Amino acid sequence: MRSYSLIAPAKINLYLEIIGDRSDGYHELAMVLQSIDLADQVDLRSLSTDTISVRCAHPQVPESRANLAYQAAALMAAEFSDAFAQFGGVEITIDKRIPIAAGLAGGSSNAAAVLVGLDLLWQLGLTQSELEELGSQLGSDVPFCIAGGTAIATGRGERLSPLPSVDNLYVVLGKYRHLDVATAWAYQTYRANFGNTYVNKQDLTSRAAAVHSSSMVQAIIHEDQVQIGQRLHNDLERVVIPAYPQILQLKETFQNAGCLGAMMSGSGSTVFALCDSEKQAQKVHQQGRMLAQPSDLDLFIARLTSTGVQVMSSNKD
Ligand code: ATP
Repeated sequence: MRSYSLIAPAKINLYLEIIGDRSDGYHELAMVLQSIDLADQVDLRSLSTDTISVRCAHPQVPESRANLAYQAAALMAAEFSDAFAQFGGVEITIDKRIPIAAGLAGGSSNAAAVLVGLDLLWQLGLTQSELEELGSQLGSDVPFCIAGGTAIATGRGERLSPLPSVDNLYVVLGKYRHLDVATAWAYQTYRANFGNTYVNKQDLTSRAAAVHSSSMVQAIIHEDQVQIGQRLHNDLERVVIPAYPQILQLKETFQNAGCLGAMMSGSGSTVFALCDSEKQAQKVHQQGRMLAQPSDLDLFIARLTSTGVQVMSSNKD
């Protein structure tokens, strides 16, 4: 039986703008997404039966059909029924290192790893865009998580344009263990509070496309680290921070410690501090640790990375 071990990196949002309501019920977004080297390990092992199973020791991660990794395997089994019949089911084991419900796309990245891994396990030979199309059926962040790196994402987040890599930068991530923000709640609350500022439906695509010429994208193209730090933006802070003031306190602690910039990632509750060096990241981390005593703050240092899902090893037994 063949098996694959894959690395599934987390993402942060360097930029997140909510443009308006789409006719499919989702929000039209304009984002700049960035992979970081804080990652889960996802192992796939062929089974001789026709079952899909998920194992994950983390108490908050379901091992049922609710797991996005399970849903990715079920989608592949439905789309490629001949390969499923030929190669059999799969056991998916997730070593969870990415914080849960943290705005870091942990579940989406696990699903992306299953798509990439099953493509190899079942010898399907899918292209990146075919994998991204499958990913978009599972969740808005899944297509980005496949190739990762630095990218503009518009639409629901599935329309991707690659950007030059900024992988020489570091981040310090802070996440309160008991502060989980539900992504759906954040977007619904934003709509309730700011829906009156949304652009008309016919203007959505062109307004989202304007992110291509935004100051954030220019700063990335010109490798201007200071500007990248200053142009960090996340509309969802407008609803999440008033509900969870600890997030603002953490952001201010990072900013005062001296970093390029600090921002909440996605729908939170993770706050990241963008740093120009490992040394700067260690200084910011130290300040965060002082704030943490005796609270329940988890802190991580990670490096920005130019890759998404990666195969770490493969075995035949
Ligand atoms: P995003 O940034 O895409 O909104 P997130 O980081 O906020 O994602 P996740 O960690 O992906 O959120 O998980 C959110 C919820 O999804 C959790 O409450 C968890 O129960 C469920 N879930 C399902 N599958 C997974 C998975 N493979 N890993 C983590 N959580 C999962």
